[in-house]
Amino acid sequence: MGWNLHGTHACEGDLVQLVGLRHKSFIFKLRSEATFQSHRGVIKHADIIGQPWGSPIFSHNGSPFFMMQPALSDLLKNIQRSTQIIYPKDIGHILVTMAIGPGLHVLEAGTGSGALTTAFAYAVGPSGRVTSYEIRPNFHELAQKNLALLDLQDRVDFKLRDIAEGFDETGVDALFLDVANPWDYIPQVVRALKPGGFFGSLLPTTNQVSQLLAMLKNHHFAFLDVCEIFLRYYRPEPERLRPTDRMVAHTGFLIFGRPILVSENEETSLLLKEAEEAEPVEDSLGGR
Ligand code: SAM
Repeated sequence: MGWNLHGTHACEGDLVQLVGLRHKSFIFKLRSEATFQSHRGVIKHADIIGQPWGSPIFSHNGSPFFMMQPALSDLLKNIQRSTQIIYPKDIGHILVTMAIGPGLHVLEAGTGSGALTTAFAYAVGPSGRVTSYEIRPNFHELAQKNLALLDLQDRVDFKLRDIAEGFDETGVDALFLDVANPWDYIPQVVRALKPGGFFGSLLPTTNQVSQLLAMLKNHHFAFLDVCEIFLRYYRPEPERLRPTDRMVAHTGFLIFGRPILVSENEETSLLLKEAEEAEPVEDSLGGR
């Protein structure tokens, strides 16, 4: 089993999230013979197995928890990490903008701790494929362990390789680069990504974004978008509804584009120029 969002009751092998006071949360896999231990006390897994999701459960010293099925964002925040990871707020936008869905083949580099890999593997489903390149053996290993905990590892080909050497794959549906210098690998991207496919990248500083944009334009990427996602939480108190005191102010800039095929005639050049320069159209679903 593993990460299982089906069913009404906790089963052997399911991932459970125990959420205690002050939202302190613990995620682990249920094994009938195992015991959960924390500074908030001890709970036998056997006492959780068979209980309905959403139930309260108490440790040996009376500390209360709710037992929940973890959401993807909970798993991503909880992931064991040795690298910076892409945050759920950015991942959500990446998935919808790059149309990541069942049956697609998605390529990414670098694997890092595997947060984005996890989301891609979840989104492409059992009929899809994720290929993930990483140059550092320790991160390559860690990401495989992280995916295995969720039983998503069978959807992913992990490759230990410097992407400067190129990708083995061609004609992939979508390709994401989360490396410090993505502009250096655009020729490799063009060879791997199908024409019209979805390209994305995340960079922390604007000068890096400029460098990437220049390279994308040189390689006939159109429909370029640069954006930043702000997520502000509110204290959910009906009488005193207001933003929480702190927020993550900056994670990175997201850059998207689509490689297109160009022919040498004037109309196509005009179209390409327009596609490169177009302001993103404010969508008609924006306001209410
Ligand atoms: N997206 C990942 C996640 O959400 O967990 C984090 C990726 S981390 C910020 C960047 C990774 O890219 C590092 O693990 C680094 O070793 C890897 N990397 C950097 N240059 C690379 C290259 N040329 N080829 C393959 N991997 C590379």
